Amino acid sequence: MIRGSCLCGDVTFEVHGDISQPVACHCGQCRRQSGHFWASSSVPDDRLHITRDDGLTWYSSSDIARRGFCKTCGAFLFWKHNEETKTSFSMGALAAPTGAKLGRHIFVDDKGDYYDITDGLPQSGL
Ligand SMILES: [Zn+2]
Ligand SMILES: [Zn+2]
Repeated sequence: MIRGSCLCGDVTFEVHGDISQPVACHCGQCRRQSGHFWASSSVPDDRLHITRDDGLTWYSSSDIARRGFCKTCGAFLFWKHNEETKTSFSMGALAAPTGAKLGRHIFVDDKGDYYDITDGLPQSGL
C-alpha cells in the first residue's frame, strides 16, 4: 500500500496493490493545472481509498473527464474519466519509495516549447 497526500494534508489517500506504470502527460490541460507536465499512475477505483477529503474539489475540465485538487493548497491530485471505473493520481503526491519508474510520455504534440524530452522513453503524440 502506498500513501499519498496534497501539500497541506487536507486530502490524503491510499493506493492498494500494484499501480500501473506511470506516464507523463504533456497535454495543455495537464500543463496548466500542474505547472509543467503531469506524471500519474492509475488504479481501479476499488483500490483507491480517499482517507481524507476535507479539501477535495472536482473540476469538470471537459465533457468526458474531471480533475480533483485540494482547494486549500491547490495540489493537483486526480484525473478521472467520467465513464471509467479507474482513477489517475499524481505521482508527486506519493510518499517514497513508490517502487515505480516512469514508462512513457503522452500528448507530446501538445508539449511546451521551453523544454526537451531527453530521457529516451517512448513518446506518443496523443
Ligand atoms: Zn491541500
Ligand atoms: Zn494531460
